[in-house]
Amino acid sequence: MIVALVVVAAVVGLVLVGAVAWREHRHFVDAEESRRRDDEMHRRHEDEVAESEARLRLSLDAITQGVVMADDAGNVLYRNSYARQFTEARHGEALVEAAVAELLAEASQGRAVEREVELFGPPRRCMFVSAMPLTVEGRDYGSVALIDDITEPQRLDAMRRDFVANISHELRTPMGALSLLAETLAGERDPEVASRLAMRVQAEAIQLSDIMDDLLELSRIESDEASERTLVVVQHVVSDALSRLRPIADEKLVPIEAVLPAFDLLVRADHRQLTSAVFNLLDNAVKYSDAHRPVRVSAQLTGDRVELEVRDHGYGIPLRHQRRIFERFYQVDRSRERTDGGVGLGLAIVRHVATNHGGEVRVDSAEGEGSSFTLVLPVSDEVSEAPPEADEREVPDTVVADVAQPIGAQA
Ligand code: ADP
Repeated sequence: MIVALVVVAAVVGLVLVGAVAWREHRHFVDAEESRRRDDEMHRRHEDEVAESEARLRLSLDAITQGVVMADDAGNVLYRNSYARQFTEARHGEALVEAAVAELLAEASQGRAVEREVELFGPPRRCMFVSAMPLTVEGRDYGSVALIDDITEPQRLDAMRRDFVANISHELRTPMGALSLLAETLAGERDPEVASRLAMRVQAEAIQLSDIMDDLLELSRIESDEASERTLVVVQHVVSDALSRLRPIADEKLVPIEAVLPAFDLLVRADHRQLTSAVFNLLDNAVKYSDAHRPVRVSAQLTGDRVELEVRDHGYGIPLRHQRRIFERFYQVDRSRERTDGGVGLGLAIVRHVATNHGGEVRVDSAEGEGSSFTLVLPVSDEVSEAPPEADEREVPDTVVADVAQPIGAQA
């Protein structure tokens, strides 16, 4: 009996010890499992943080603006790749880096600050540096500096201002003349003088309307709006430009010769834009030549390009001006008599037409000897099925000849 009791007690003891050991084991396993889960979560969290940090860094590196972050004592903690270029203190760039350091120090005092920094280059650049404190709900997170290249916006702004100033200037002259003429006309009793004054009023009004036309044409061509690309025969463009120019050339007694190939020179282009470009080149050739100095327009195929040349034997353009004559409103000689009422938009139109069509315009000129302007356009290898508005059209006084047989000059 006693033995049995001892055995039972031993068994119970063993069971209890086993249960306790088992519970300990479970605790250990559970704790291990929970630690493993915690570690896993921690690792995942760290991965996520690293991933979003990498994403943030890559995004900051992708922007074309410098970003520099500093702690609340003004010590730099981070720079994106745009801002890093200024740490390699070459030439003027060191000025930007110095401005960033100074502005970050000021921003760490709780003030938003900004400054423009000129880099004299070349090329000349203007940088805008701004810095501000990073404070959220009273808590200070240091400060950030931003660096912007404002060279291009500044240039565009200056161009816009120049453009407005130029237009106002160009319009003021004929407007002033009109007002003066009208005033004189109002008090004029002699009908003959009055009629002469009226003719001058008309001439000034035409001048004004020409300026407006040029401005509208340039803005249309610059934006390339409403342009229509069709298969265009270069000879037809020359014909159209010539028929518009003929009265002007006749009045100035400037003979024009056209030397064009007998086969169709085809380009994919906006007919109206191209005609405007050729007209402007011819108009200048006539405008800047004395009477009886011939102007010649020719076109030829050179490889895969069509070269259309307008050559005159007029005043020519001094070399120092040749680089700038394609700018809007640029005139070599601003006196009205020499420019014959032009405002310096013609060649800007020509250059825009050339670029709109994937081509270019070249100038070759010598003062006192004359000028040659060449419009180069990519030739079209398409075959015109039905030549647009082509063969039936008649253009008076326009001469289209075989290259081998230049046709005679005419005034
Ligand atoms: P404008 O209205 O003054 O003719 P353009 O833009 O057509 O303006 O030409 C700019 C300047 O280039 C002119 O003012 C003129 O001085 C010069 N120029 C252009 N074409 C010729 C040319 N064929 N011969 C001499 N000078 C020219």
